[in-house]
Amino acid sequence: MVTVVTAPILLSPKVAIAMKTDILHTPKSGWKALDPMEKVSVDEMKAKEEFRNYTDSSRHSIVEKHYLMMRQYQTVEYVDRMYAKWHNFDHGKMTIAEAFKKLEGYIDSSDPDADFPNLEHCLQTAEGIRAAGHPEWFQLVGLLHDMGKIMFLWGDDTDGQHGRADSPQWALGGDTWIVGLPIPDTTVFPEFNKESPDLGKFSGLGLYKAKCGLKNVKFAYGHDEYMYRMLVHNKCLIPAEGLAMIRYHSCYPWHDKHEYSVFETDEDRSMKQWVKEFNKFDLYTKGNKRPDVKALWPYYQKLIDKFCPGVLDW
Ligand code: FE
Ligand code: FE
Repeated sequence: MVTVVTAPILLSPKVAIAMKTDILHTPKSGWKALDPMEKVSVDEMKAKEEFRNYTDSSRHSIVEKHYLMMRQYQTVEYVDRMYAKWHNFDHGKMTIAEAFKKLEGYIDSSDPDADFPNLEHCLQTAEGIRAAGHPEWFQLVGLLHDMGKIMFLWGDDTDGQHGRADSPQWALGGDTWIVGLPIPDTTVFPEFNKESPDLGKFSGLGLYKAKCGLKNVKFAYGHDEYMYRMLVHNKCLIPAEGLAMIRYHSCYPWHDKHEYSVFETDEDRSMKQWVKEFNKFDLYTKGNKRPDVKALWPYYQKLIDKFCPGVLDW
């Protein structure tokens, strides 16, 4: 029996045509291919292959511009400057709840799958992880993983850290890569790699040694590195697996395209499995219905009180 269903929040032109021909009234093969855990958190109307559409999503021009600027400005020198700017955590003092309040208006310009506030995406991710039966710390990682975008409060246009989706955000979100060596062509928009001012400055392993460990390389700067360091600085009780999810989740060339294995340690290889597990929820919950922030908050506040309590340095 064909059931009448509501349309997903975002429709790419391709999906809109499919809707007209009723193709999407039954799950597509992409959705069918997901494992049971993924299905818990995935809107079957938005099949797997419709996520991370970097060719013709409804937000394509914003996303494309974001990645062009990312490639043009994320150099080794820039990343070093951001380390100095952000890693003293002397910008403000807030609880997690207060920081979420500030994040309410933030929309990510690098994301082809979501045009609603980032807080809702964080809750969708956390709820997917919770529904799959993962432990509390993992659920909290779902909630916190994108909070580093809070840098927009103290960021500016020239550093690519502005909080409006139509303004520069190329150092808040977006897929990252390791700076200080050639950029692999498995990044999104590889055609922009030649725009990097670092092009030709590094060859081979660049600034690094084989097996040096991912904790000793520098990624294009963004919310991942900031939030990881912020949680460590504030002595939050999230286990190493959770911290790895936060720190590396934007490096798709590593966890999705098998780049950079030359730098991995045994620990990195085991963390990669956790990052990949997290990534399912980060990505495939974006088509879900918008979460009821008010109703869900008391549950998550308890997790915050357990793992990251009180007023924190940002
Ligand atoms: Fe993220
Ligand atoms: Fe995310």
